[in-house]
Amino acid sequence: MKNSALTKIITVIIISLLVPILSYTIYQVVQTDKNEQLIYSIYDRQLDSILFSVNQHCWDIFSTWSAELASILSTYPDDEERQKIQLQKYVQRNPAVLGAFLHFENQEVNVFKERTVLPESFRSRELFRQKLLMIIDSAKTQLAPILRRAKEGYIKPLAYAWEKSGGQEITLLLFPYFNESQESGRTWLMGIFIDNIEYINDIVARKFMAMNDGELVFAVREKDTGVLHYFTEESNSEKFEKSEDLWIIPNLEIQIKVRGTTLNQISQKRARTNLTFLIVVNTVLLLGVFYVLRNVWHEMTLARMKTDFVANVSHELRTPLALIRMFAETLELGRVPSDEKKRAYYRSIVGESSRLTQLINNILDFSKIESHKKEYKLEPADLSRLVRKTLEMYAFHLEQKGFQVSLDADSDVPEIKIDTEAIKQSLVNLLDNAVKFSTENKNIEVSVQRHDQKIIVSIHDHGIGIPESEHKKIFEKFYRVESSLVHNTKGSGLGLNLVKKIMDIHNGQITVESSPGKGSTFSLIFPINTNGV
Ligand code: ADP
Repeated sequence: MKNSALTKIITVIIISLLVPILSYTIYQVVQTDKNEQLIYSIYDRQLDSILFSVNQHCWDIFSTWSAELASILSTYPDDEERQKIQLQKYVQRNPAVLGAFLHFENQEVNVFKERTVLPESFRSRELFRQKLLMIIDSAKTQLAPILRRAKEGYIKPLAYAWEKSGGQEITLLLFPYFNESQESGRTWLMGIFIDNIEYINDIVARKFMAMNDGELVFAVREKDTGVLHYFTEESNSEKFEKSEDLWIIPNLEIQIKVRGTTLNQISQKRARTNLTFLIVVNTVLLLGVFYVLRNVWHEMTLARMKTDFVANVSHELRTPLALIRMFAETLELGRVPSDEKKRAYYRSIVGESSRLTQLINNILDFSKIESHKKEYKLEPADLSRLVRKTLEMYAFHLEQKGFQVSLDADSDVPEIKIDTEAIKQSLVNLLDNAVKFSTENKNIEVSVQRHDQKIIVSIHDHGIGIPESEHKKIFEKFYRVESSLVHNTKGSGLGLNLVKKIMDIHNGQITVESSPGKGSTFSLIFPINTNGV
């Protein structure tokens, strides 16, 4: 009954709680690699999207530049002077732009920034034209598809490394002007000279900074030479996770990484943290379940012991009562022939009724102690005398059952403060157990001895003994060892618990030395210091 209820509870807990949670944990453990990959790909995509938006930004800037140049041409198609003025303004407005030109067949309008040192190729008109015409010539085939796409509103410039000298790097962005009404084959070309370093600092880096909350490290690298042009960190020892060409100037590469760590490390750490957290939660949960089950088990055991107790006590009350009644009725009817027989009947009545009193005292004291209503009267007394008197009082009962009791009492034990009634009751309980749990050898040895600051009262029997594993439990209320002999003897499971409680009141102890088949010794240990007079 009890086991099946517990099995039910355990099954419900396992099915409803443990199985899903443990399966989820196992699933997560197995999936750790996949989770890491997932976290990795999330971060990876984030970095990609940052690089993408930098590129997008550069693209947008270029689109405005090309639109501005286109509007100069469409507003002043034939006025070279005005075109020049507008170009000049345009170049001044944009720090990264060094110069710009509009080219139509063999003529062009060009302007450059007013700077103290302009590159040679800009200062020498001849050199400039030669270089430009060479580039335009080589670009002819590539310009046709650009023009086709320009009709769809999408202009991708051709980028040429124009010059690299004296720490200055110039890129030429070359692209056609598209106009619905223009004749085919007669195309205006437009060009913008970009100061690479200025461009990187003013346009690329600024966009980076706008998106960086300090967690990321950026760099712009020149692909040909590997030179880093811009770097958000002091040292450039860090290895970048992601690189991408700058769409507008493909010779430049933009790079990104997470500060002080790598995507692999981040994803591993994240996955591990998640897993650790899950394992901690599960451990707490398992401990909780274990604790609940233990309590349920405890409560069920107590409930079973209480039921056994009621059955045992009823049995214990019924047997002596039946005997007393039988002897009394026989005596009343005058059917007892001899005086000796009569005396034996009277003795039985006295014996059985004293056993009843003992049992009822135990139960009453137990309930009083449990409800903290029991009061003790501690008065100086001689333990040796008390033990002797108790044995004398109990001698008749013991003799009748065929027991031999010996007493070895020190005569010089000092008086200590005790509740004589309670100690007497304890002794009777221990003697009663010695009698109940003895088989062939019916000798009981009692001793009262002083050891330093202690007085020890021992009761030694040669009965069935108690396994080591039960030594602690026998002092719990209602507890009875589960063996056939114990099962067949009457008892409430309260006796030893009561003795322990009484000894606690006296600041003393009860100990047991016993093993199966070798008898048992129960010792009551009284301290002299605290209880002495
Ligand atoms: P009861 O004797 O009424 O069962 P107790 O609390 O006095 O209850 O004892 C608890 C249990 O301890 C007993 O049921 C028995 O199993 C064990 N026990 C106590 N004293 C002895 C003893 N002297 N020898 C063997 N077993 C004992």
